[in-house]
Amino acid sequence: MLLKNKVDGLKNILKPENVLTAEEERYCYAEDSTNSKGKIKLPDAVVFVKTIEDVQRVLMYANKHKIPVISRGAGTNMVGACSCPKGGIVLNFSRMNKILEFNPQNMTMKVQPGVVLGDIKKLAETENLFYPPDPSNFKVSTIGGSIAQSSGGAISFKYGTTKDYILSLKVVLADGSLMQLGAGTIKDAVGYHLNQLIIGSEGTLAVVVEAELKLIPKPETSRVILSYFDNIDNAIEGVNEIIKRRIFPATIDFMDKNSVRTVESFYPCGLKTSCEAMLITEIDGFESSMEQQQTSVINALKSTGASEISVKIRDNEKESVWTARRASFAATAKLAPDVVSDDIIVPRSSLASMIRGCRSICEKFGLEVCLVGHVGDGNIHPQIAIDLDNDEEFKKYVQAKSEMYKLAVSLGGTISAEHGVGKEKISYLENTVDRDAVLYMKKIKKLFDPNNILNPDKIFKL
Ligand SMILES: Cc1cc2nc3c(=O)[nH]c(=O)nc-3n(C[C@H](O)[C@H](O)[C@H](O)COP(=O)(O)OP(=O)(O)OC[C@H]3O[C@@H](n4cnc5c(N)ncnc54)[C@H](O)[C@@H]3O)c2cc1C
Repeated sequence: MLLKNKVDGLKNILKPENVLTAEEERYCYAEDSTNSKGKIKLPDAVVFVKTIEDVQRVLMYANKHKIPVISRGAGTNMVGACSCPKGGIVLNFSRMNKILEFNPQNMTMKVQPGVVLGDIKKLAETENLFYPPDPSNFKVSTIGGSIAQSSGGAISFKYGTTKDYILSLKVVLADGSLMQLGAGTIKDAVGYHLNQLIIGSEGTLAVVVEAELKLIPKPETSRVILSYFDNIDNAIEGVNEIIKRRIFPATIDFMDKNSVRTVESFYPCGLKTSCEAMLITEIDGFESSMEQQQTSVINALKSTGASEISVKIRDNEKESVWTARRASFAATAKLAPDVVSDDIIVPRSSLASMIRGCRSICEKFGLEVCLVGHVGDGNIHPQIAIDLDNDEEFKKYVQAKSEMYKLAVSLGGTISAEHGVGKEKISYLENTVDRDAVLYMKKIKKLFDPNNILNPDKIFKL
Protein backbone atom coordinates (compact mmCIF):
# COMPACT_ATOMS: atom_id res chain seq x y z
CA MET A 1 0.00 0.00 0.00
CA LEU A 2 1.36 3.40 -0.94
CA LEU A 3 1.91 5.84 1.85
CA LYS A 4 -0.60 8.69 1.96
CA ASN A 5 2.05 11.24 1.05
CA LYS A 6 2.86 9.31 -2.17
CA VAL A 7 -0.80 9.36 -3.18
CA ASP A 8 -0.96 13.06 -2.32
CA GLY A 9 2.06 13.53 -4.59
CA LEU A 10 0.04 12.04 -7.46
CA LYS A 11 -2.87 14.32 -6.68
CA ASN A 12 -0.52 17.30 -6.90
CA ILE A 13 0.68 16.15 -10.31
CA LEU A 14 -2.74 15.45 -11.85
CA LYS A 15 -5.27 17.31 -9.66
CA PRO A 16 -7.22 15.30 -7.05
CA GLU A 17 -10.25 14.69 -9.31
CA ASN A 18 -8.06 12.65 -11.69
CA VAL A 19 -6.83 10.28 -9.00
CA LEU A 20 -9.04 7.51 -7.58
CA THR A 21 -8.05 6.11 -4.22
CA ALA A 22 -11.23 4.86 -2.55
CA GLU A 23 -11.15 1.10 -1.99
CA GLU A 24 -14.32 0.42 -4.00
CA GLU A 25 -12.93 2.45 -6.91
CA ARG A 26 -9.57 0.68 -6.86
CA TYR A 27 -11.38 -2.66 -6.70
CA CYS A 28 -12.88 -1.97 -10.15
CA TYR A 29 -9.38 -1.84 -11.64
CA ALA A 30 -7.81 -4.80 -9.83
CA GLU A 31 -8.74 -7.29 -12.52
CA ASP A 32 -9.49 -7.54 -16.22
CA SER A 33 -11.47 -9.97 -18.42
CA THR A 34 -9.36 -12.88 -17.23
CA ASN A 35 -11.14 -15.44 -15.08
CA SER A 36 -8.52 -16.63 -12.66
CA LYS A 37 -8.16 -17.88 -9.15
CA GLY A 38 -6.20 -16.38 -6.32
CA LYS A 39 -6.14 -13.41 -4.04
CA ILE A 40 -6.93 -10.11 -5.71
CA LYS A 41 -4.43 -7.34 -5.12
CA LEU A 42 -5.78 -3.81 -5.53
CA PRO A 43 -3.85 -0.98 -7.17
CA ASP A 44 -2.97 1.84 -4.78
CA ALA A 45 -4.35 4.50 -7.08
CA VAL A 46 -5.99 4.86 -10.49
CA VAL A 47 -5.04 7.95 -12.45
CA PHE A 48 -6.79 9.46 -15.47
CA VAL A 49 -4.28 10.92 -17.89
CA LYS A 50 -5.26 13.36 -20.63
CA THR A 51 -1.98 14.42 -22.22
CA ILE A 52 1.44 13.03 -23.00
CA GLU A 53 2.84 15.39 -20.37
CA ASP A 54 0.51 13.86 -17.75
CA VAL A 55 1.91 10.41 -18.57
CA GLN A 56 5.49 11.72 -18.42
CA ARG A 57 4.97 13.34 -15.05
CA VAL A 58 3.33 10.24 -13.55
CA LEU A 59 6.13 8.00 -14.81
CA MET A 60 8.87 10.35 -13.61
CA TYR A 61 7.24 10.30 -10.19
CA ALA A 62 6.67 6.54 -10.15
CA ASN A 63 10.21 5.82 -11.29
CA LYS A 64 11.66 8.09 -8.62
CA HIS A 65 9.66 6.31 -5.92
CA LYS A 66 9.84 2.85 -7.57
CA ILE A 67 6.07 2.49 -7.79
CA PRO A 68 4.63 -0.05 -10.30
CA VAL A 69 2.65 1.44 -13.21
CA ILE A 70 0.04 -0.65 -15.01
CA SER A 71 -1.31 0.80 -18.25
CA ARG A 72 -4.93 0.00 -18.89
CA GLY A 73 -7.13 0.30 -21.98
CA ALA A 74 -10.52 -1.39 -21.81
CA GLY A 75 -9.23 -4.21 -19.58
CA THR A 76 -10.45 -6.91 -21.96
CA ASN A 77 -7.27 -8.96 -22.22
CA MET A 78 -7.54 -12.58 -21.16
CA VAL A 79 -4.17 -13.20 -19.50
CA GLY A 80 -4.32 -10.97 -16.44
CA ALA A 81 -2.10 -8.40 -18.17
CA CYS A 82 -3.80 -5.53 -16.28
CA SER A 83 -3.67 -7.15 -12.85
CA CYS A 84 -1.68 -5.43 -10.14
CA PRO A 85 0.27 -8.12 -8.24
CA LYS A 86 2.45 -5.48 -6.57
CA GLY A 87 -0.21 -2.78 -6.26
CA GLY A 88 0.90 0.49 -7.81
CA ILE A 89 -0.67 3.03 -10.13
CA VAL A 90 -3.14 2.14 -12.88
CA LEU A 91 -2.78 4.51 -15.85
CA ASN A 92 -6.27 4.88 -17.25
CA PHE A 93 -6.33 6.01 -20.91
CA SER A 94 -10.08 6.44 -21.32
CA ARG A 95 -9.64 10.24 -21.57
CA MET A 96 -6.79 10.01 -24.10
CA ASN A 97 -9.18 8.83 -26.77
CA LYS A 98 -8.84 11.28 -29.66
CA ILE A 99 -8.23 10.51 -33.29
CA LEU A 100 -5.57 13.17 -33.97
CA GLU A 101 -5.22 12.98 -37.74
CA PHE A 102 -6.79 11.06 -40.62
CA ASN A 103 -4.92 11.23 -43.91
CA PRO A 104 -6.84 9.30 -46.59
CA GLN A 105 -4.25 10.10 -49.27
CA ASN A 106 -1.39 8.57 -47.30
CA MET A 107 -3.80 5.99 -45.87
CA THR A 108 -2.71 6.74 -42.29
CA MET A 109 -4.34 7.68 -39.02
CA LYS A 110 -2.75 9.13 -35.87
CA VAL A 111 -4.47 8.15 -32.66
CA GLN A 112 -4.20 8.45 -28.92
CA PRO A 113 -3.95 5.15 -27.00
CA GLY A 114 -7.47 5.16 -25.57
CA VAL A 115 -9.26 5.22 -28.94
CA VAL A 116 -11.61 2.26 -29.33
CA LEU A 117 -10.80 0.05 -32.36
CA GLY A 118 -14.38 0.24 -33.64
CA ASP A 119 -14.07 4.05 -33.96
CA ILE A 120 -10.87 3.68 -36.00
CA LYS A 121 -12.57 1.20 -38.33
CA LYS A 122 -15.67 3.39 -38.68
CA LEU A 123 -13.73 6.54 -39.58
CA ALA A 124 -11.47 4.69 -42.03
CA GLU A 125 -14.54 3.33 -43.82
CA THR A 126 -15.85 6.83 -44.53
CA GLU A 127 -13.03 7.04 -47.12
CA ASN A 128 -13.31 3.40 -48.25
CA LEU A 129 -10.27 2.51 -46.16
CA PHE A 130 -9.79 -0.35 -43.77
CA TYR A 131 -8.02 -0.98 -40.44
CA PRO A 132 -8.03 -4.81 -40.40
CA PRO A 133 -6.98 -6.00 -36.88
CA ASP A 134 -10.21 -7.16 -35.25
CA PRO A 135 -10.18 -8.84 -31.88
CA SER A 136 -13.79 -10.05 -31.62
CA ASN A 137 -14.43 -7.37 -29.03
CA PHE A 138 -13.23 -4.48 -31.23
CA LYS A 139 -16.31 -2.47 -30.27
CA VAL A 140 -14.82 -1.91 -26.80
CA SER A 141 -11.09 -2.68 -26.84
CA THR A 142 -8.56 0.13 -27.36
CA ILE A 143 -5.69 0.66 -29.75
CA GLY A 144 -3.22 0.99 -26.82
CA GLY A 145 -4.20 -2.44 -25.47
CA SER A 146 -4.26 -3.87 -28.96
CA ILE A 147 -0.71 -2.66 -29.64
CA ALA A 148 0.52 -3.93 -26.29
CA GLN A 149 -0.98 -7.40 -26.95
CA SER A 150 -0.41 -7.36 -30.73
CA SER A 151 -3.96 -8.54 -31.02
CA GLY A 152 -5.24 -10.33 -34.07
CA GLY A 153 -8.68 -11.78 -34.66
CA ALA A 154 -10.60 -13.58 -37.35
CA ILE A 155 -9.13 -11.90 -40.40
CA SER A 156 -5.46 -12.31 -39.50
CA PHE A 157 -5.22 -15.14 -42.04
CA LYS A 158 -5.24 -12.68 -44.92
CA TYR A 159 -4.53 -9.36 -43.26
CA GLY A 160 -2.11 -10.09 -40.41
CA THR A 161 -2.25 -8.68 -36.89
CA THR A 162 -1.71 -5.34 -35.18
CA LYS A 163 2.06 -5.52 -35.72
CA ASP A 164 1.47 -5.19 -39.47
CA TYR A 165 -0.40 -1.88 -39.16
CA ILE A 166 1.81 0.26 -36.93
CA LEU A 167 3.92 2.80 -38.82
CA SER A 168 5.22 4.73 -35.84
CA LEU A 169 4.77 5.10 -32.12
CA LYS A 170 5.34 7.75 -29.50
CA VAL A 171 6.18 6.12 -26.22
CA VAL A 172 6.99 7.33 -22.73
CA LEU A 173 9.82 5.42 -21.12
CA ALA A 174 9.98 4.36 -17.49
CA ASP A 175 11.96 7.50 -16.54
CA GLY A 176 9.33 9.77 -18.12
CA SER A 177 11.22 10.62 -21.30
CA LEU A 178 9.40 10.67 -24.62
CA MET A 179 10.65 8.66 -27.59
CA GLN A 180 9.54 8.56 -31.24
CA LEU A 181 9.85 5.14 -32.89
CA GLY A 182 9.54 4.71 -36.65
CA ALA A 183 9.27 7.33 -39.38
CA GLY A 184 5.62 6.81 -40.21
CA THR A 185 6.48 5.77 -43.76
CA ILE A 186 5.28 2.55 -45.39
CA LYS A 187 8.85 1.27 -45.47
CA ASP A 188 11.59 2.14 -43.02
CA ALA A 189 14.98 0.43 -43.05
CA VAL A 190 16.83 2.71 -40.69
CA GLY A 191 18.20 0.77 -37.75
CA TYR A 192 16.48 -1.62 -35.39
CA HIS A 193 12.67 -1.67 -35.51
CA LEU A 194 12.16 -0.65 -31.91
CA ASN A 195 8.48 0.04 -32.52
CA GLN A 196 8.05 -3.68 -33.27
CA LEU A 197 9.69 -4.44 -29.94
CA ILE A 198 7.08 -2.38 -28.12
CA ILE A 199 4.21 -4.09 -29.98
CA GLY A 200 3.24 -7.15 -27.96
CA SER A 201 5.35 -6.12 -24.95
CA GLU A 202 2.23 -5.90 -22.75
CA GLY A 203 3.08 -2.54 -21.25
CA THR A 204 6.32 -3.86 -19.75
CA LEU A 205 8.81 -1.80 -21.80
CA ALA A 206 7.15 1.56 -22.40
CA VAL A 207 3.82 3.32 -22.39
CA VAL A 208 2.30 4.02 -25.81
CA VAL A 209 0.98 7.58 -25.98
CA GLU A 210 0.42 7.94 -29.72
CA ALA A 211 0.34 5.62 -32.72
CA GLU A 212 0.35 6.18 -36.44
CA LEU A 213 -1.61 3.43 -38.15
CA LYS A 214 -1.41 2.04 -41.64
CA LEU A 215 -4.74 1.69 -43.44
CA ILE A 216 -5.46 -0.24 -46.61
CA PRO A 217 -8.16 0.03 -49.28
CA LYS A 218 -11.38 -1.53 -48.08
CA PRO A 219 -12.40 -4.57 -50.11
CA GLU A 220 -15.45 -3.71 -52.23
CA THR A 221 -17.56 -6.55 -50.91
CA SER A 222 -17.55 -9.84 -49.04
CA ARG A 223 -19.52 -13.07 -48.71
CA VAL A 224 -19.71 -15.60 -45.91
CA ILE A 225 -19.78 -19.29 -46.76
CA LEU A 226 -21.03 -21.49 -43.95
CA SER A 227 -20.27 -25.20 -44.11
CA TYR A 228 -20.86 -28.18 -41.85
CA PHE A 229 -18.85 -31.38 -41.49
CA ASP A 230 -19.40 -34.78 -39.93
CA ASN A 231 -15.85 -34.97 -38.67
CA ILE A 232 -13.08 -32.58 -37.71
CA ASP A 233 -10.42 -33.96 -40.06
CA ASN A 234 -12.63 -33.32 -43.08
CA ALA A 235 -13.25 -29.75 -41.93
CA ILE A 236 -9.52 -29.06 -41.55
CA GLU A 237 -8.85 -30.76 -44.88
CA GLY A 238 -11.43 -28.32 -46.30
CA VAL A 239 -9.29 -25.42 -45.05
CA ASN A 240 -6.22 -26.85 -46.82
CA GLU A 241 -8.20 -27.56 -49.97
CA ILE A 242 -9.42 -23.93 -50.18
CA ILE A 243 -5.84 -22.71 -49.98
CA LYS A 244 -4.63 -25.27 -52.52
CA ARG A 245 -7.11 -23.77 -54.97
CA ARG A 246 -5.30 -20.43 -54.61
CA ILE A 247 -8.18 -18.70 -52.86
CA PHE A 248 -7.09 -16.36 -50.08
CA PRO A 249 -10.16 -15.85 -47.83
CA ALA A 250 -10.19 -13.05 -45.27
CA THR A 251 -11.23 -15.60 -42.66
CA ILE A 252 -11.50 -19.30 -42.15
CA ASP A 253 -12.99 -19.72 -38.69
CA PHE A 254 -14.07 -22.87 -36.89
CA MET A 255 -16.62 -23.94 -34.28
CA ASP A 256 -16.81 -27.49 -32.96
CA LYS A 257 -19.96 -29.41 -32.13
CA ASN A 258 -20.01 -28.23 -28.51
CA SER A 259 -19.66 -24.56 -29.37
CA VAL A 260 -22.31 -24.73 -32.11
CA ARG A 261 -24.71 -26.42 -29.68
CA THR A 262 -23.90 -24.04 -26.85
CA VAL A 263 -24.34 -20.92 -28.97
CA GLU A 264 -27.53 -22.29 -30.49
CA SER A 265 -29.05 -23.09 -27.11
CA PHE A 266 -28.44 -19.63 -25.66
CA TYR A 267 -28.59 -17.42 -28.77
CA PRO A 268 -30.64 -19.39 -31.31
CA CYS A 269 -29.65 -18.34 -34.81
CA GLY A 270 -30.34 -21.40 -36.93
CA LEU A 271 -26.99 -23.20 -36.73
CA LYS A 272 -27.06 -26.92 -37.50
CA THR A 273 -26.41 -28.63 -34.17
CA SER A 274 -25.98 -32.17 -35.49
CA CYS A 275 -22.60 -31.38 -37.10
CA GLU A 276 -19.16 -32.21 -35.65
CA ALA A 277 -17.61 -29.03 -37.03
CA MET A 278 -18.61 -25.80 -38.73
CA LEU A 279 -16.42 -23.57 -40.90
CA ILE A 280 -17.06 -19.90 -41.53
CA THR A 281 -15.20 -18.81 -44.64
CA GLU A 282 -15.33 -15.15 -45.59
CA ILE A 283 -14.19 -14.17 -49.06
CA ASP A 284 -13.71 -10.54 -50.00
CA GLY A 285 -12.58 -8.41 -52.93
CA PHE A 286 -14.25 -6.95 -56.01
CA GLU A 287 -17.87 -7.89 -56.69
CA SER A 288 -16.78 -9.23 -60.06
CA SER A 289 -14.55 -11.83 -58.33
CA MET A 290 -17.18 -13.12 -55.93
CA GLU A 291 -18.79 -15.83 -58.06
CA GLN A 292 -15.42 -17.31 -59.01
CA GLN A 293 -14.11 -17.29 -55.42
CA GLN A 294 -17.38 -18.66 -54.10
CA THR A 295 -17.43 -21.53 -56.62
CA SER A 296 -13.83 -22.49 -55.82
CA VAL A 297 -14.47 -22.45 -52.06
CA ILE A 298 -17.66 -24.48 -52.38
CA ASN A 299 -15.95 -27.03 -54.61
CA ALA A 300 -13.08 -27.28 -52.12
CA LEU A 301 -15.44 -27.78 -49.19
CA LYS A 302 -17.54 -30.36 -51.08
CA SER A 303 -14.42 -32.26 -52.07
CA THR A 304 -13.63 -32.90 -48.40
CA GLY A 305 -17.15 -33.88 -47.44
CA ALA A 306 -19.04 -30.76 -46.34
CA SER A 307 -22.55 -31.96 -45.60
CA GLU A 308 -24.32 -28.64 -46.00
CA ILE A 309 -23.12 -25.34 -47.45
CA SER A 310 -24.87 -21.97 -47.52
CA VAL A 311 -23.74 -18.57 -48.78
CA LYS A 312 -24.57 -15.34 -46.97
CA ILE A 313 -24.55 -12.27 -49.17
CA ARG A 314 -26.73 -9.70 -47.40
CA ASP A 315 -25.16 -7.70 -44.56
CA ASN A 316 -27.72 -8.86 -41.99
CA GLU A 317 -27.13 -12.54 -42.90
CA LYS A 318 -23.35 -12.14 -42.63
CA GLU A 319 -23.67 -10.24 -39.37
CA SER A 320 -25.87 -12.94 -37.91
CA VAL A 321 -23.18 -15.59 -38.58
CA TRP A 322 -20.49 -13.41 -37.01
CA THR A 323 -22.70 -12.57 -34.05
CA ALA A 324 -23.10 -16.31 -33.44
CA ARG A 325 -19.33 -16.85 -33.65
CA ARG A 326 -18.58 -13.90 -31.36
CA ALA A 327 -21.23 -15.11 -28.90
CA SER A 328 -19.34 -18.35 -28.27
CA PHE A 329 -17.43 -16.99 -25.26
CA ALA A 330 -20.55 -15.51 -23.65
CA ALA A 331 -22.54 -18.67 -24.41
CA THR A 332 -19.89 -20.93 -22.85
CA ALA A 333 -19.96 -18.66 -19.80
CA LYS A 334 -23.54 -19.78 -19.24
CA LEU A 335 -22.53 -23.43 -18.79
CA ALA A 336 -20.74 -22.90 -15.48
CA PRO A 337 -20.00 -20.10 -13.01
CA ASP A 338 -16.80 -19.21 -14.94
CA VAL A 339 -15.27 -19.60 -18.37
CA VAL A 340 -11.59 -19.52 -19.26
CA SER A 341 -10.61 -18.87 -22.84
CA ASP A 342 -7.22 -20.09 -24.00
CA ASP A 343 -5.17 -19.39 -27.08
CA ILE A 344 -2.96 -21.95 -28.84
CA ILE A 345 -1.44 -21.98 -32.30
CA VAL A 346 0.11 -24.79 -34.36
CA PRO A 347 1.15 -25.14 -37.98
CA ARG A 348 -1.97 -25.84 -40.04
CA SER A 349 -0.68 -29.33 -40.88
CA SER A 350 -1.01 -30.22 -37.16
CA LEU A 351 -4.33 -28.51 -36.59
CA ALA A 352 -6.59 -31.57 -36.66
CA SER A 353 -4.28 -33.35 -34.15
CA MET A 354 -4.33 -30.25 -31.92
CA ILE A 355 -8.11 -29.99 -31.98
CA ARG A 356 -8.61 -33.70 -31.30
CA GLY A 357 -5.92 -33.51 -28.60
CA CYS A 358 -7.62 -30.58 -26.82
CA ARG A 359 -10.87 -32.44 -26.83
CA SER A 360 -9.48 -35.70 -25.48
CA ILE A 361 -7.39 -33.92 -22.81
CA CYS A 362 -10.48 -32.08 -21.59
CA GLU A 363 -12.52 -35.30 -21.67
CA LYS A 364 -9.83 -37.06 -19.64
CA PHE A 365 -10.13 -34.41 -16.91
CA GLY A 366 -13.92 -34.23 -17.13
CA LEU A 367 -13.90 -30.62 -18.34
CA GLU A 368 -16.51 -29.14 -20.64
CA VAL A 369 -14.81 -27.43 -23.57
CA CYS A 370 -16.11 -25.48 -26.54
CA LEU A 371 -13.49 -25.21 -29.28
CA VAL A 372 -13.48 -22.26 -31.64
CA GLY A 373 -10.62 -20.86 -33.63
CA HIS A 374 -9.14 -18.93 -36.48
CA VAL A 375 -8.19 -22.14 -38.25
CA GLY A 376 -6.80 -20.47 -41.36
CA ASP A 377 -3.97 -19.38 -39.02
CA GLY A 378 -3.81 -22.67 -37.06
CA ASN A 379 -5.11 -20.76 -34.01
CA ILE A 380 -7.45 -22.52 -31.55
CA HIS A 381 -9.31 -21.02 -28.59
CA PRO A 382 -10.41 -23.75 -26.16
CA GLN A 383 -13.13 -22.20 -24.01
CA ILE A 384 -13.52 -24.18 -20.82
CA ALA A 385 -16.60 -23.86 -18.63
CA ILE A 386 -15.53 -24.23 -15.02
CA ASP A 387 -16.27 -23.38 -11.41
CA LEU A 388 -13.06 -21.70 -10.25
CA ASP A 389 -14.18 -21.99 -6.63
CA ASN A 390 -14.19 -25.77 -6.95
CA ASP A 391 -10.60 -26.64 -5.99
CA GLU A 392 -10.77 -30.13 -7.44
CA GLU A 393 -12.03 -28.87 -10.78
CA PHE A 394 -9.46 -26.10 -10.81
CA LYS A 395 -6.64 -28.60 -10.23
CA LYS A 396 -7.86 -30.65 -13.19
CA TYR A 397 -8.08 -27.53 -15.33
CA VAL A 398 -4.45 -26.62 -14.55
CA GLN A 399 -3.33 -30.14 -15.50
CA ALA A 400 -5.38 -30.06 -18.69
CA LYS A 401 -4.00 -26.64 -19.63
CA SER A 402 -0.44 -27.81 -19.10
CA GLU A 403 -1.05 -30.89 -21.28
CA MET A 404 -2.60 -28.78 -24.05
CA TYR A 405 0.41 -26.44 -24.04
CA LYS A 406 2.83 -29.38 -24.15
CA LEU A 407 0.93 -30.83 -27.06
CA ALA A 408 0.96 -27.49 -28.92
CA VAL A 409 4.72 -27.15 -28.49
CA SER A 410 5.32 -30.79 -29.47
CA LEU A 411 3.34 -30.17 -32.65
CA GLY A 412 5.58 -27.24 -33.56
CA GLY A 413 3.27 -24.55 -32.22
CA THR A 414 3.21 -22.20 -29.26
CA ILE A 415 1.11 -21.23 -26.24
CA SER A 416 -0.26 -17.93 -27.44
CA ALA A 417 -1.12 -16.58 -30.87
CA GLU A 418 -2.79 -13.32 -29.92
CA HIS A 419 -3.73 -13.11 -26.24
CA GLY A 420 -0.19 -12.75 -24.88
CA VAL A 421 1.44 -14.10 -21.73
CA GLY A 422 0.39 -11.65 -19.01
CA LYS A 423 0.56 -13.29 -15.60
CA GLU A 424 -1.41 -16.37 -16.62
CA LYS A 425 1.23 -18.04 -18.80
CA ILE A 426 4.43 -16.96 -17.05
CA SER A 427 5.19 -20.42 -15.71
CA TYR A 428 4.97 -21.93 -19.20
CA LEU A 429 7.33 -19.48 -20.88
CA GLU A 430 10.59 -21.27 -20.15
CA ASN A 431 9.30 -24.53 -21.67
CA THR A 432 8.10 -22.76 -24.78
CA VAL A 433 10.66 -20.17 -25.76
CA ASP A 434 14.40 -20.73 -26.26
CA ARG A 435 16.18 -20.27 -22.90
CA ASP A 436 18.62 -17.70 -24.33
CA ALA A 437 15.75 -15.82 -25.93
CA VAL A 438 14.14 -15.46 -22.49
CA LEU A 439 17.49 -14.22 -21.11
CA TYR A 440 17.65 -11.59 -23.84
CA MET A 441 14.06 -10.56 -23.16
CA LYS A 442 14.99 -9.99 -19.52
CA LYS A 443 18.07 -7.96 -20.53
CA ILE A 444 15.92 -5.81 -22.80
CA LYS A 445 13.41 -5.29 -20.00
CA LYS A 446 16.21 -4.16 -17.65
CA LEU A 447 17.55 -1.75 -20.26
CA PHE A 448 14.16 -0.12 -20.82
CA ASP A 449 12.99 -0.27 -17.24
CA PRO A 450 15.88 -0.64 -14.76
CA ASN A 451 13.61 -0.20 -11.72
CA ASN A 452 11.05 -2.73 -13.00
CA ILE A 453 8.13 -0.37 -12.54
CA LEU A 454 6.33 -1.01 -15.87
CA ASN A 455 3.72 -3.73 -15.46
CA PRO A 456 6.03 -5.87 -13.28
CA ASP A 457 5.60 -9.66 -13.06
CA LYS A 458 4.04 -9.90 -16.52
CA ILE A 459 5.47 -12.11 -19.29
CA PHE A 460 8.20 -13.19 -16.81
CA LYS A 461 9.37 -12.35 -13.31
CA LEU A 462 12.76 -10.71 -13.02
C1 LIG B 1 -14.86 -11.62 -25.66
C2 LIG B 1 -13.42 -11.36 -26.03
C3 LIG B 1 -12.99 -11.69 -27.30
C4 LIG B 1 -11.65 -11.46 -27.66
N1 LIG B 1 -11.26 -11.77 -28.92
C5 LIG B 1 -9.98 -11.56 -29.29
C6 LIG B 1 -9.54 -11.90 -30.61
O1 LIG B 1 -10.30 -12.37 -31.44
N2 LIG B 1 -8.25 -11.65 -30.93
C7 LIG B 1 -7.37 -11.10 -30.03
O2 LIG B 1 -6.22 -10.90 -30.38
N3 LIG B 1 -7.75 -10.80 -28.77
C8 LIG B 1 -9.02 -11.01 -28.38
N4 LIG B 1 -9.42 -10.70 -27.10
C9 LIG B 1 -8.41 -10.19 -26.13
C10 LIG B 1 -8.40 -8.64 -26.00
O3 LIG B 1 -9.58 -8.11 -26.39
C11 LIG B 1 -7.33 -7.97 -26.80
O4 LIG B 1 -6.08 -8.36 -26.34
C12 LIG B 1 -7.45 -6.42 -26.75
O5 LIG B 1 -6.74 -5.92 -27.81
C13 LIG B 1 -7.02 -5.75 -25.47
O6 LIG B 1 -7.40 -4.36 -25.53
P1 LIG B 1 -7.77 -3.55 -24.22
O7 LIG B 1 -7.97 -2.14 -24.59
O8 LIG B 1 -8.88 -4.20 -23.51
O9 LIG B 1 -6.42 -3.72 -23.42
P2 LIG B 1 -6.21 -4.03 -21.84
O10 LIG B 1 -6.77 -5.35 -21.50
O11 LIG B 1 -6.67 -2.84 -21.08
O12 LIG B 1 -4.64 -4.08 -21.81
C14 LIG B 1 -3.94 -5.11 -22.43
C15 LIG B 1 -2.44 -4.90 -22.20
O13 LIG B 1 -2.06 -3.69 -22.82
C16 LIG B 1 -1.37 -2.85 -21.90
N5 LIG B 1 -1.68 -1.48 -22.31
C17 LIG B 1 -2.90 -0.91 -22.43
N6 LIG B 1 -2.76 0.34 -22.90
C18 LIG B 1 -1.44 0.56 -23.05
C19 LIG B 1 -0.65 1.67 -23.46
N7 LIG B 1 -1.20 2.82 -23.83
N8 LIG B 1 0.70 1.54 -23.48
C20 LIG B 1 1.30 0.38 -23.11
N9 LIG B 1 0.60 -0.70 -22.70
C21 LIG B 1 -0.74 -0.60 -22.68
C22 LIG B 1 -1.88 -3.28 -20.55
O14 LIG B 1 -0.97 -2.95 -19.52
C23 LIG B 1 -2.01 -4.77 -20.75
O15 LIG B 1 -0.76 -5.36 -20.60
C24 LIG B 1 -10.74 -10.89 -26.72
C25 LIG B 1 -11.20 -10.56 -25.44
C26 LIG B 1 -12.53 -10.79 -25.09
C27 LIG B 1 -12.98 -10.41 -23.71
